[in-house]
Amino acid sequence: MGSVTSKLTPENNARNQNFSSIMRPERPPISGNDALQALVAAERIDGYMLAVSKNRYNRKARFGKNYMPTFDVVDMVIPSPDPSQPWPSGQVLWMEPSADGGLPHTRPPYYICMPKTYPEDKLQNTLLHERIHVSQRMYPNEWIDMIKNAWGMTVWNDTLPSNIEDRRRLNPDILMAPHFAWKNEYVPCSIFVDLTDPSLNKIQLVWYHIPTRTIRTDVNTIPGWKDFFGIIPHGEHPYEIAAYLLSDDSLSCRAKNAINSILFKLPINDKIYFM
Ligand SMILES: [Zn+2]
Repeated sequence: MGSVTSKLTPENNARNQNFSSIMRPERPPISGNDALQALVAAERIDGYMLAVSKNRYNRKARFGKNYMPTFDVVDMVIPSPDPSQPWPSGQVLWMEPSADGGLPHTRPPYYICMPKTYPEDKLQNTLLHERIHVSQRMYPNEWIDMIKNAWGMTVWNDTLPSNIEDRRRLNPDILMAPHFAWKNEYVPCSIFVDLTDPSLNKIQLVWYHIPTRTIRTDVNTIPGWKDFFGIIPHGEHPYEIAAYLLSDDSLSCRAKNAINSILFKLPINDKIYFM
C-alpha cells in the first residue's frame, strides 16, 4: 500500500501543499471539508445517494459502509494525465476506505472518488480509467456519437422493466448516462447476483432483449458481442467498456481498435477545471 495517512496538522498540511505544488501544480489537494462540500454539490446534480436509499438491494449492499471523504491528509502523488491523450485531470477526492465498497468512481461534474488506502502502484492506471469517465461527463454528445460510430450502439430511451431495474447495481459513473442498445435489440446492464445478500462486487452482466422483454445471461447468445468486444470485465455499459479498454494495455479487440481510431474527435480542453 502506498498510502500514508496522518492527522491534519499545520505542519503536515503545509508539507502536503508544498509537495503537491511540485508534483501536481495543476491540481492542489482539497481539504476534507471542501471534499464534503463537493460531494454535497455532486449529489444535487446526480442524486446518487438518494437513488441508493430508494432501492432496497443497493441500500443493503452499502449497509455499514461509510460514504464520506477522509479528513486525514493523504500523501500520495497524483499522476498528471498524459498530455498526448484527451483525458481531463478531474479532481481527486480521497474517501474513507469503505465508501462504495472501496470501488473508485466519479461524481459530477469532475470529481474522482478514490479510497485513501488505494495501492499507489495502481493509482495511475485507475486514474486513467476514471478520467475517461470524467471525459464522458464533460462531453456526453461527443461520446454518444463515438459509441454509435465506432460500435454501432445507439441510445435506447426506454426504461427497463421494473423487476430488472430493481435488481441493477447502481453505478455512479453511468447514472446520468443513457442506456445503449447493441444491434438495436440488446441492452447491457449489471444486476446483483444474490438478492438476499447483495454485494457491490458480486454482479452479473446481462442483456435485456428489447423485442422479447427478457433477460439473457449467456454472452454466446448475443450476436457478435464476444467477437467484437472480447470478454470485458464489468461491460455493463459502453462507457464502462470504453474506460476498461482504453486504460488496460492487456485488452485487445475490434471494439478497442474502432474507438481508438476516432478518439481524435474528442476536444482536448481541460481549462474549465482550473477554477
Ligand atoms: Zn468505470
